[in-house]
Amino acid sequence: MRGLMWSERTQRGLSVGLMIAVLVLAMLSLGLFTSMRLTLNNLYFLPQATSDTVVIVAIDNPSLAAYGRSPVQWSRTVYADLITQLNADGARVVAFDVLFAEPTPEDAVLVEAIQAARFNPDGPRTRTVMPLDGTQLLLDISTERPALAYRQTLAPVPELAAVADQLGYINTVVDVDGAVRRAPSFMQASDGALHLGFSLATYLTYSGIPAAVAPTLLENEGAQLRITPDLTPDRVLYVDERGLWQHNYFGTSNDAFTVVSLRDVVQGDVVPGLFEDKIVLVGLLDATGLVDRYNAPLALQGQSLSGVEIHANAIETLIQQKPLRGVDPGAEVGLVIVLAVGAGLLYAHLRWYWMLATALGLILLYSVVAFVVFDTQQMILNLLYGWSALGLTALLMLGMNITLERSQRERAEILLHSVQAAARQRLSVQNMLPHLSEDIARIVPHSAGTIQLDGIEPHAYTWGTVPSAAPALMIPLVASGQTLGRVTVQTRARLLPRQRRLVAAIVQGAAPHLENAQLYEQAQHQNRLLEGILTGAPSGVLVLDTERCIRHMNDSVGYEFETSALPYIGQRIEHLLAALHVDDDQRARLITAFQTETVFREEIRQGARVYYLDAVLLADIARWVVIISNVTSLAQLNMLKTRLLRMLSHDLKNPLGSIMGFIEILQDDAALSPQSQRFLGNMNGAAEHMLEIINNILDMEQLSAGKRDHAPVEMDDLLAQLIARYEPEAEQNAQQLGGDWPTPLPPVAGDGRMLRQAFSNLVGNALKYTPAGGRVRLHIQPQSSADGAQPAMLRVVIEDNGYGIPREAQDKLFTQFYRVRTAQTKHIRGTGLGLSLVKAIIDEHEGRIWVESAEGQGSTFFVELPIWQVVD
Ligand code: ADP
Repeated sequence: MRGLMWSERTQRGLSVGLMIAVLVLAMLSLGLFTSMRLTLNNLYFLPQATSDTVVIVAIDNPSLAAYGRSPVQWSRTVYADLITQLNADGARVVAFDVLFAEPTPEDAVLVEAIQAARFNPDGPRTRTVMPLDGTQLLLDISTERPALAYRQTLAPVPELAAVADQLGYINTVVDVDGAVRRAPSFMQASDGALHLGFSLATYLTYSGIPAAVAPTLLENEGAQLRITPDLTPDRVLYVDERGLWQHNYFGTSNDAFTVVSLRDVVQGDVVPGLFEDKIVLVGLLDATGLVDRYNAPLALQGQSLSGVEIHANAIETLIQQKPLRGVDPGAEVGLVIVLAVGAGLLYAHLRWYWMLATALGLILLYSVVAFVVFDTQQMILNLLYGWSALGLTALLMLGMNITLERSQRERAEILLHSVQAAARQRLSVQNMLPHLSEDIARIVPHSAGTIQLDGIEPHAYTWGTVPSAAPALMIPLVASGQTLGRVTVQTRARLLPRQRRLVAAIVQGAAPHLENAQLYEQAQHQNRLLEGILTGAPSGVLVLDTERCIRHMNDSVGYEFETSALPYIGQRIEHLLAALHVDDDQRARLITAFQTETVFREEIRQGARVYYLDAVLLADIARWVVIISNVTSLAQLNMLKTRLLRMLSHDLKNPLGSIMGFIEILQDDAALSPQSQRFLGNMNGAAEHMLEIINNILDMEQLSAGKRDHAPVEMDDLLAQLIARYEPEAEQNAQQLGGDWPTPLPPVAGDGRMLRQAFSNLVGNALKYTPAGGRVRLHIQPQSSADGAQPAMLRVVIEDNGYGIPREAQDKLFTQFYRVRTAQTKHIRGTGLGLSLVKAIIDEHEGRIWVESAEGQGSTFFVELPIWQVVD
């Protein structure tokens, strides 16, 4: 709710409302546009019905024609006749808006007529009101009540003043727009005496109140002047600090008041009873050449009023009790604030056209309310300030909306342009960076900057030149929560907030595109790499789907099989194989392998050619990768090797056997010289060495052919036999050969013949690399398994105290054809194959072999073999 209340719009509405309120209040307090305000308020003054109490006797053109151009210089007998006529017709008050300031000989006639009318014993009584006219308004006066004061006062000649019922100031107050709206309540004469305003004096006279008591009946209560003894209790005038009150306007003489020509009245040429009980105002009206005219609020109708008409309206106001009042200043300030802020808050949530419509509606509503209040309360609600509060707020909001919309549109356009450009650049980072920089430079002219992209292949783009000390803006390029890089913008001047926002928006908008482009480039790069590998691979590479359909195939396949690869894309691999004349059995085997295995190697033959087909299933992308390698030459080599071995075993071994047989026969010949005997011995040694090599090679071959038994082998028996076999050789060299082991021993699992071969090699080596008089011992040690229950392995130790093996040679000892050559052992004959064969055999049995040796002290070979497990 708080969020809603204080949304950005609400805040904007509030601030605009307050701003306009302050502006309007400033206008109000400084009195700006007062004339416009007054003219607007004139709208209130529409013609309205009068009480028909006031009749105007006009000193008009016919009267001027009859009695002379200057009414004040007329014979006073004309006025005496007028009074007499009016009294005869029953007028209650005759009020003169004509000042008889100069004495004339006929004054006595007029005095007499006034007296006669005033004290008419038989008929109606008519009272007379005479005018006073102040000149030179004094601004600073101090009286006991609010009043106007003039330096000088023009008064009727004393005789006339003495017989008049009341004297009243005819002065009016002109507003800045030249219109008369206010009448004085009290005037201070230069002698300090207080007199009533003319309308008030006339009205009180009409109410029968004598001049002497009139001022005392008027009580000031703050801004109100209360007329106490009146018939109706609420007769109140609203006066300002100078005692001025605002009267109403009912209309002009033409439509609101009865007007008769003075000449007609004097000549008795009027309808009888016209003046009965009326207030008769005598003054200039429709008198060409004589000027007594003022603008009135009704002037909106294009007319100005004569003084007598203004007085008529003021008197009518008093009769109808319709004096006007303005709104209290405090209330006016409150009203302006409420209207402006309320309107601001309301407009802030509307689209511009609704806002304008609402503003017009509100202005209309305010006007209606103002008119109703005027009509019912006689109160003047300020139209200008009310309209301003409502209208200016709307205009300012509209202006802000337009600016906002413009900047949003500009932003949208730039973003759109940026997105379009990004799309056009087909995801190329190289192309996108200059475009992005152009967009930024469009928002921030004369800028310089850098766009940096990190990643596997970093990019950087720089534009413009600006001193390095210039203020810089750094915006990170963030996409998918990852920082891709950064944009730095430099300008000589500081960036405006709008520019910052726009640049940030563009950079944010571009970031995902740059990320995509980067990913796309990486993917392209990866693709090209893979494609290169695939195409360049010397082996045939195929990619199959899980249905064995060929999806990709490199050129090597076609090249290898001398066929075009194209027709087979989308076909199953077996179609390709059939086309290559791979026989049915092989194809069936392959299909089974594809169905049951995930990694396999199959050999396929095409005529004389042999291929390995290696396949692996990449489960996560549901693809098989198949590599076809031509192994024809390998297969041929293998065949060659087999033939060679066959030749070794038969074709070489047999002649060697007969060579050795003949040497033996020759050695028995006693006739041979000792030198020949020695030569024969050398020959025999060489032949034996050769036989040993052949035997070792054959053993190796046999081992790799993988034919072997799996049976329990009693190691104690095996070693005992070996000791027995090597005993004579040991004795010959004065070597001690023996063994010890606990009984009974569990059998090991393996091939007895192979194991015998292995241990024979080890014992043979031990004797061979131990000088005469040395010692060779064999041990068997059952090794406990981890849980210590049944022994799992049997360890055989062959220990000698011979030449030993240098440290650096120990690692390579078990590789083929490796021989250690030290000073002591270099004369010893060997092939370097023995230990590699031993290792191969032990590995075949899933056992272990290692050596510990110190040069000159002897060697110990350790062999561990798994014990034969009885399967129930
Ligand atoms: P060879 O036919 O040379 O004996 P082997 O593979 O059996 O070939 O042995 C490799 C080398 O290991 C030998 O040349 C020898 O130097 C060394 N060697 C093997 N057994 C022993 C041993 N018990 N004491 C010292 N050296 C040995």
